Amino acid sequence: MDIQYDVIIVGAGPAGMSAAIYASRAGLKTMMLEVSAPGGKLIKTFSIENYPATKEESGADLAYKMFEHSTSFGAEYVYGDVQKIIDHQDYKEVITADSSYTAKCVIIASGTKEKMLGLAKEDRLVGKGISYCAVCDGALYRGKDVVIIGGGNSALEEAVFLTQFVNMVYIVIRRDVFRADKIIQDKVLNNAKIKIITKHVPHRILGEDHVEGIELEDVETKKLMTLDVSAIFPYIGAQPNTDFVKELGITNEQGYILVDNNMETKVKGIFAAGDCIDKPLRQVITACSDGAIAGQKAYHYVYK
Ligand SMILES: Cc1cc2nc3c(=O)[nH]c(=O)nc-3n(C[C@H](O)[C@H](O)[C@H](O)COP(=O)(O)OP(=O)(O)OC[C@H]3O[C@@H](n4cnc5c(N)ncnc54)[C@H](O)[C@@H]3O)c2cc1C
Repeated sequence: MDIQYDVIIVGAGPAGMSAAIYASRAGLKTMMLEVSAPGGKLIKTFSIENYPATKEESGADLAYKMFEHSTSFGAEYVYGDVQKIIDHQDYKEVITADSSYTAKCVIIASGTKEKMLGLAKEDRLVGKGISYCAVCDGALYRGKDVVIIGGGNSALEEAVFLTQFVNMVYIVIRRDVFRADKIIQDKVLNNAKIKIITKHVPHRILGEDHVEGIELEDVETKKLMTLDVSAIFPYIGAQPNTDFVKELGITNEQGYILVDNNMETKVKGIFAAGDCIDKPLRQVITACSDGAIAGQKAYHYVYK
């Protein structure tokens, strides 16, 4: 049988695009399958300040440069929502919602998605005041008050970004300390358009057709307070996009993919890279590093 590709990469975020550079530059027939726009989380990030040689760059610009680079050695970019990967040992079958492809090996670089708050009406009000992407939707709330839930780096970075448009950004955190790096905490604390509400958690979303506010619960007294806001941006962590590999048995309990130093899973010829793997730091630089290793090891696998 004719195997279509040497390597198929699932996801065209920083990990997938780096893998594509290494694999295609080494001469592998390479395809990236992506369900959204190329760039992954980069296109949802206002500004990147910690990627070497880019002191400050918009996520979208960096994504565009990476995409141009990733296809410059011949890697193909194809739209596809990957639903399943079947291991036929000497080749792998990648099944999307409307097609299927074969490759000698696969690199999974499918990243993570934001966790939901788990409140009633949240699903229904996505796009009507609930947003998991401040960069994408922030400008819709020009002059309004909005709330960010969460105290990590992403939450605080996007709060600062939102102050360009909105009247006031509330940041709600469960504890009384942030998890974010000090440099971004300082930016938040020095911004007059940001108010911090500590020791509260979201309790109820207000509004039927669109968000009109949020009820918060004091974690100690259980007293409720209401914020009249037009938008809610939850930044409370992420979960891996790995449902489509469940049957391969390559994930840990949280769904993160387990790999060795070569970025290979326990299934020979199936590699993984970036935010979707079990690792201590999920950032652009580590995603690119994983992708580079996976791309290089895919080459060794094909020419073993
Ligand atoms: C708001 C925010 C701010 C951040 N700020 C920074 C920062 O300042 N510096 C920094 O270094 N990092 C930052 N990060 C983290 C950084 O963006 C990620 O670590 C990085 O993008 C991970 O790259 P990745 O390629 O592993 O995953 P992703 O970027 O998530 O890309 C995964 C890709 O896979 C695709 N995909 C998923 N499932 C499928 C499927 N079934 N079929 C096909 N395609 C699929 C997705 O559409 C996506 O394009 C930030 C993240 C967020 C959310």
